[in-house]
Amino acid sequence: MYEVQRGSRGVIGTSVMNHATFGNHLLDALPREEVGRLSAHLRRVFLHRGQILASPGDAAEFLYFPIDALLWSWTTTTGAERPTSLLTTGRRGAMSLDSLLDLPSTHGNVAVLSPGSAWRVARTALESLSRAIDSPIRRMLTRFAYASFAVCAYRLACNSEHNVDRRLARWLLFIMDETGKPEASLTHQQIADVAAIRRPSVSLAFSDLQRRGIVRVHHGLVQILNRERLERETCPCYTAIRVALEDALSGESLSELSASG
Ligand SMILES: [Zn+2]
Repeated sequence: MYEVQRGSRGVIGTSVMNHATFGNHLLDALPREEVGRLSAHLRRVFLHRGQILASPGDAAEFLYFPIDALLWSWTTTTGAERPTSLLTTGRRGAMSLDSLLDLPSTHGNVAVLSPGSAWRVARTALESLSRAIDSPIRRMLTRFAYASFAVCAYRLACNSEHNVDRRLARWLLFIMDETGKPEASLTHQQIADVAAIRRPSVSLAFSDLQRRGIVRVHHGLVQILNRERLERETCPCYTAIRVALEDALSGESLSELSASG
């Protein structure tokens, strides 16, 4: 009998987990055949802090599947002093979907927030691989695009309803989930920009978490010392976002499960 592992939501079959070798959840959830077609076009790269990957109006040259790098896209359309965060993603996602969605160019800036590795595929290769509307990679990335839309909506709702402490806890958990590490190399200003929280409020919230032994912040390194307690500090939006991202993975896993009988 086929064994299925269930998380809080979503379904991941063991056959999918067996070829989970990329370290990016989207790639690892693709059917074997699609991985075979794609792997020749994937190149592992190291992304440096602050590296600019795309600017508004560019046709993004590559699609990135982060492993432990954290990528960020933002806009300055409000004219405000600080940037407006659009999408932050790591190993549970991909960055620069405009080629897949047949958009001529990207709308936001894309940069590396926290350094690390990623797989990248050239736009031209992806266009050829995903030409069929029902190709697994296209279906997967379309589901991720929808999940990203849901995540934006949850974030907006959270920003208007929940206090800074809970939102910061949500962001820290999110970042750890995206990088797969209990620590991240991020400054207070970077977290303030990504989380849409004023920098003095970030520092105050960090002081409180640090005093209580939940996190440690030292020389630009944020370490989670007690994840369980941090989860108790956050709001339900953290789980809503996690489930939206898990659901983006479930389709191909389910189709492979049914194909395997
Ligand atoms: Zn919230």
